[in-house]
Amino acid sequence: MIIEIAIPLYLDNTFHYTVPERLSLQALPGRRAIVPFGRRKLTGYILGTVTECAFDKLKEIIDVLDSEPLWTANELEFFRWTASYYLHPLGEVLRAALPAGINVQSRKGSTGDDAELSGGKPVRTEKFYLPGPVVETSQRTGARALEILAIIRETGEIPASDLRKRFGTCSPQLKRLAELGLAVVQEREVYRDPFKHAAIKRDVPRQLNKHQQSALDAIQACLSQRQYTAFLLYGVTGSGKTEVYLQAISRAIENGTNALVLVPEIALTPQLTGRFQSRFGGGIAILHSGLSDGERYDEWRRIRRGLARIVIGARSAIFAPLENIGIIIIDEEHEASFKQSDGLRYNARDLALVRGGMEQAAVVLGSATPLVTSIHAAQQKRLTMLDLPERVENRPMPTVERVAMKGSKETISAQLAAALTHTVENGQQAIVFLNRRGFATFLVCASCGKTLSCPNCSVTLTYHRQRAQSICHYCDYAVPAPGTCPECGATELTELGAGTEKLESELKELLPRARILRMDSDTTSGKGSHERLLSRMSDGTADILIGTQMIAKGHDFPGVTLVGVINAEAGLGMPDFRAAERTFQLLSQVIGRAGRGDSPGKVFVQAYDTEHYAIFSAAGHDAAGFYQQELEFRQEVGYPPFSFLAVIGISGNLEQAVSAQAEQSAKLLMQIKQRLKLRVEILGPAPAPIYRLRGRFRCQILLKAVTRKELRQLVIAWRQQSRAASTVRMAVDIDPVDLM
Ligand code: ADP
Ligand code: ZN
Repeated sequence: MIIEIAIPLYLDNTFHYTVPERLSLQALPGRRAIVPFGRRKLTGYILGTVTECAFDKLKEIIDVLDSEPLWTANELEFFRWTASYYLHPLGEVLRAALPAGINVQSRKGSTGDDAELSGGKPVRTEKFYLPGPVVETSQRTGARALEILAIIRETGEIPASDLRKRFGTCSPQLKRLAELGLAVVQEREVYRDPFKHAAIKRDVPRQLNKHQQSALDAIQACLSQRQYTAFLLYGVTGSGKTEVYLQAISRAIENGTNALVLVPEIALTPQLTGRFQSRFGGGIAILHSGLSDGERYDEWRRIRRGLARIVIGARSAIFAPLENIGIIIIDEEHEASFKQSDGLRYNARDLALVRGGMEQAAVVLGSATPLVTSIHAAQQKRLTMLDLPERVENRPMPTVERVAMKGSKETISAQLAAALTHTVENGQQAIVFLNRRGFATFLVCASCGKTLSCPNCSVTLTYHRQRAQSICHYCDYAVPAPGTCPECGATELTELGAGTEKLESELKELLPRARILRMDSDTTSGKGSHERLLSRMSDGTADILIGTQMIAKGHDFPGVTLVGVINAEAGLGMPDFRAAERTFQLLSQVIGRAGRGDSPGKVFVQAYDTEHYAIFSAAGHDAAGFYQQELEFRQEVGYPPFSFLAVIGISGNLEQAVSAQAEQSAKLLMQIKQRLKLRVEILGPAPAPIYRLRGRFRCQILLKAVTRKELRQLVIAWRQQSRAASTVRMAVDIDPVDLM
């Protein structure tokens, strides 16, 4: 028997091995095998059997690691697709799809017993009771046993310990129920439960308004036909998108299918997961970066074994081993964080459409500010638009005032200051948004005019007053601050630009009695700190929340009636064709935090250029106007959705080698393009906007094509023919999101 194996190395092809007789029953697709590879022994992933192979000197596999397959045939097909689309080795894709805990490779291992699947960790077992095959019986059961049975049926499955907690000793009754076939008992492994501390309050579905209802009906129609449909749930902030997700998931579960929910990592807060738990109780698995390897692995196993009907996670959850998926939800589909920026550079939002297609599922992309490309896809009917144009319960959108800051040196304008004072005095809450952490954006030498910048990265250092350091936000390089000018030794350094730390100190001066919180990556590094800050906003023990983009998204604080935006155009200067789109999205999201409760909201947007269309449309709640203008711009310059992009990144520690390699690659690309007559624009090589990053020099070649097919042809041919110098790294990014 010959099998195909993917090996987690940067090799494009898969490998063939023979299977010795003793392993023939175990060497099945989806399991890991130990194989000889050169002089090493490696863990590979069995893909399937092959009928013929050109080589006749195949090696034998040494062992099979798992007693149960890690993946189904469907999942393997999805991973093959992913590997092929992103031009990434399949073995690497499979390795990335596994939780860290499982990759702890066991080299010795007896053949495939369960200790291996559990990563060598001891697992406790416990008895669970489930409803049995018998529904009704004429036999005598006893009232108490019936009560217990009702609970077993209600929960679907319940650990014996929970039953004891509820009913005291009840083994005679349980024994009787099992005898009669009304209940069955299973010995199961116990999993660490990441929810164990949370108290769950049950809630019930809300009465939907007419827009929510028609969105749900459309999704429901797709669910009952089990036919792939991709929806764009376009609902303004506070329009009740989450309620639509929850009810759509209920329908999917009632249909006997499972649900996969992807959210940006930052939104994966107890507030959101709590809403799912309140609605559905148990049976939810959560995958986020805060889990330990052990917890993550437990969640993975629970999903694999069908013990979770709903999986909620950040981008990597798109690879969750969930079977029989009826619905996939991508919340905040416009978020850049669905794209992985190194290694396997996949986009979970895009892959959701692929996996949904393979599973005949409904895919719901939800956002108040969809991607420009999604709007275009909906216009072309490639996505089915579901509109929620109003806030729930007829709550008005907040009124927004733009404050022109030209000529002003203030961080907080007089208008915003007055409104803040008023809000706090009235016992209401405010959010002040500034997308820059630290105290000053940077320090400038007063005598030679040099700005303090990072020696490893081409960016300025940010001055953090509390830590008394100037810090690089990319590599964490830090020097004591204010300090002296490294260029001329002068001691007088001027602070330029404001960050959240400075904003906090100014607000404290302005409102000494207000309870002010700051939320940015400096204040949220500790475990649970994120949640603590947010819960102080929800329980009303804080008046003002200051923060970076971390506070812009998803949070629902009904007490917030005022929002202030400082330096609204901060993102517009980025050398990125998506700068306007991102600014519009971020501003609309921040503005949308105001007035979500009973009192209407008010927003002040401070900017130097208040007339820029991104700022103007966000402030005027004119999304349609923005998208139209942005699509015109994209068409004019030929960027997505009017073209397809790939970036070839070339980086290394030796500047010469990097630029030589970049030149050579561009030349090769040009030759291939001409030979194959491909309609692909080759832009560059050019230094990346952040030319040095953590000491590495970075160049980019941007490829812009009319069709995906031509783009792929070019990149594949280039990869086959190019050789990277040993000091240089080259990486292909298909559909790049981060162009910095
Ligand atoms: P979005 O996700 O669109 O910003 P949410 O789903 O968070 O909006 O809904 C905003 C608030 O309105 C939440 O507190 C939610 O419980 C509530 N809500 C949602 N749908 C309804 C409804 N049909 N009737 C009343 N309240 C609703
Ligand atoms: Zn740096």
